[in-house]
Amino acid sequence: MRQEESDVVIIGAGPSGTVAAGLLRRAGKRVTILEKEAFPRFIIGESLLPQSMEYIEAAGMLQDVVEAGFQFKNGAAFACGSKYAHFDFREKFSKGWGTTYQVQRGTFDKVLADAAARMGTDIRYKHEVTAVDVAGEKPVVTVRAEDGEYRITGEFLLDASGYGRVLPRLFDLEVPSTLPVRQAIFTHIEDGIARNAGAVFDRNKILISVPPDETDIWFWLIPFSNGRSSIGVVGRREQFDARDDKTQLLDRVARTPNLAQLLKHAVWDTPVRHIVGYSANVKALYGKNFALLGNTTEFLDPVFSSGVTIAFKSSDLAVKVLLKQLAGEKVDWEREYAEPLKVGVEAFRAFVTAWYDQRLQDIIFLPKKAPEIERMVSAVLAGYAWDEKNPFVAKPERRLASIEAACALA
Ligand code: FAD
Repeated sequence: MRQEESDVVIIGAGPSGTVAAGLLRRAGKRVTILEKEAFPRFIIGESLLPQSMEYIEAAGMLQDVVEAGFQFKNGAAFACGSKYAHFDFREKFSKGWGTTYQVQRGTFDKVLADAAARMGTDIRYKHEVTAVDVAGEKPVVTVRAEDGEYRITGEFLLDASGYGRVLPRLFDLEVPSTLPVRQAIFTHIEDGIARNAGAVFDRNKILISVPPDETDIWFWLIPFSNGRSSIGVVGRREQFDARDDKTQLLDRVARTPNLAQLLKHAVWDTPVRHIVGYSANVKALYGKNFALLGNTTEFLDPVFSSGVTIAFKSSDLAVKVLLKQLAGEKVDWEREYAEPLKVGVEAFRAFVTAWYDQRLQDIIFLPKKAPEIERMVSAVLAGYAWDEKNPFVAKPERRLASIEAACALA
């Protein structure tokens, strides 16, 4: 079988893989990405957080993203019946980017992949990783391509295969998520909001809507720059029934007053899809000459649009440790990668838990919030979940509990 070599082999050309590639190319490493699909390909996860811009910039891909013409985003809005609240991410506790984009992921992922290729990454589409052996001195990856099978070795292997979860599956690293099994039903629409004279809607913000009678279900409405939007509904699996996806989505929208009103001129022209049981976790984030990135690590929940930001953060942290290791320095993957990554994951976990048990919804919809609290919550919602100066990051549970107690008194 054909045998090839690279410095770093990456499985998957999603955001975590291509940003890791950009960072490694900037340090002069040979990088090969193996991607099983042809790009552009559809994937869900379209609302970015401002913190993610820092990593796009560090990877040398900022201009590519800015020039792609995506929908500008400066915050998040929340609606439940007559209650409405919004956070402007430029008003936040942590320093850094306050704006970002809402992106069609097929295009966005291709923009990043093309940028990585421009920087010298060898990206091979329709090359699927089928086996990995890390027992020897260097990891050996078996790849299936249209012209046959081959093996490639690298000094190090990064698994950025997202929902493919290549190494967690092959190395038995999977552990079930502690979060309930939830399902999302979603599609893209011609949203018609511009023709809706009565609509109060800010295209620069994601809109999270909650049906007043079922507050553990929520919808995203993510506007794009071309008059189209992504819409999806999320709930526990048992909150959906056997009807087809489109019927259930339309029915749910019709029963959610603010969305029914907003989307009354929408054209439902795209097949409706679903994804179920997407929350996942792993026993270890790294091993001998390999590390997991992005969604192959732990995926929590989409409610705060944190997936791509966590993916970028993992790439940034892992590449820093990897470059030291490749330079012959002693590294500690637990202390330098797993533990720091966990800080932000835990902050988001506390927010996700508090969202579904209503505590965070109570805080969000509080008519008058103390400006400092608002700026701290805004910073986490903007993705600054690793800024331990923010009490909502350093001690998220304690902070949420004390605010909830204050809400109860109010
Ligand atoms: P991916 O984007 O999944 O990329 C992995 C790549 O690896 C894919 O291209 C795949 O084809 C390739 N691959 C897989 N297996 C193999 C193999 N064997 N060989 C070669 N290549 C392989 N995140 C946000 O930031 N904002 C949102 O608004 C948001 N909304 C979401 C809504 C829902 C319902 C869900 C479930 C998730 C959402 N997410 C969101 C999360 C987001 O989808 C992921 O966090 C993000 O795509 C992770 O990026 P990644 O690079 O780790 O993996």
